[in-house]
Amino acid sequence: MPDPATRIRELALAEGFALVGFAPVAPAPDAHRYATFLEEKRHGEMAYLERFRDRILDPTKVSPGARTMICLAVNHARPAGGFRGGGRVARYALGRDYHAVVEGMLRRLERRLRAEGLGTRLRGIVDAGPVLERSHAAHAGLGFLSKSANLLHHKYGPWLFLGELLVDLELEAAPVRAPGSCGTCTLCIDRCPTGAITEPGRVDARICISYLTIELRGSIPEPLRRPMGEWVFGCDVCSEVCPFGDGAPSAADRFGTHGAFDLRLEDLLTITEDEFARTFQGSPLRRTKRAGLARNAAIVLGNLGRTEAVPLLRRAAERDPAESVAEAAAWALAQFEERR
Ligand code: SF4
Ligand code: SF4
Repeated sequence: MPDPATRIRELALAEGFALVGFAPVAPAPDAHRYATFLEEKRHGEMAYLERFRDRILDPTKVSPGARTMICLAVNHARPAGGFRGGGRVARYALGRDYHAVVEGMLRRLERRLRAEGLGTRLRGIVDAGPVLERSHAAHAGLGFLSKSANLLHHKYGPWLFLGELLVDLELEAAPVRAPGSCGTCTLCIDRCPTGAITEPGRVDARICISYLTIELRGSIPEPLRRPMGEWVFGCDVCSEVCPFGDGAPSAADRFGTHGAFDLRLEDLLTITEDEFARTFQGSPLRRTKRAGLARNAAIVLGNLGRTEAVPLLRRAAERDPAESVAEAAAWALAQFEERR
């Protein structure tokens, strides 16, 4: 019988996780950076990051009695995509909601561990869970922290979903250093459309397109609309320019492509709340709600200069019940005027 760490690794890989490592259940190594991020208010309107601050900084508060954090990563590399005829969506969001997929994988792994006596009290966490997962994952040797504040792996690059299992099992969790580093590369900093990577490893979420298009409610500040370019939901620029991860195998089959991407960008201007809920069920794009996605679509249509969208933009500017959509549509129309 292999030792517990080897067996856990075997079971995790068999479940489809690409990477596995172990970290102690203790405050994350770079917890101080998170504290600074909050103090400088770089989290924008993401108030939950402040609300759960103590638990995020110290995982012993998440699951008292836990001894080891099993850090896991799922490859989500896939080709670029978005709406029919234009309007890009971050690659991770093109398929089924990854929370459900990765949670299912974690639950199955949890059952196997329990069955083999590899932990009695376990707690699974995916993405929005209350831990500094990139920092713990780096500590566990899953990759290194990059200048774009991502976790990078020499093979999978930044195309990874992270998850953790907290277990009451004492395992040898000596720090491991993953191979690779950004070295002298600064591509992500140089190419970020809004200058959101203000220095290596430091992102100002308030001007990051991912935050603006997904988390921000209300209007997007005007100076940041043109730099949004084609991005309707999220932004992959800093990941796409990164030389790491080019060789990652595509995981599109695991996550599929959500049916909502049969829509054209213009359709998002007329979709009702009910249609939105039905169409985007099981998609990460639900997070923006109808108004957020329609607002983003209006801005991107303005950026793309698609004249066939003018009648629908006019209608949205006059009649959309959400002020942020009406105002974004009016802005988009003004872009057409400027181009004349
Ligand atoms: S996601 Fe886009 S906007 Fe945000 S830091 Fe990366 S390149 Fe910049
Ligand atoms: S683009 Fe270059 S600097 Fe940025 S994360 Fe990738 S390797 Fe590091």
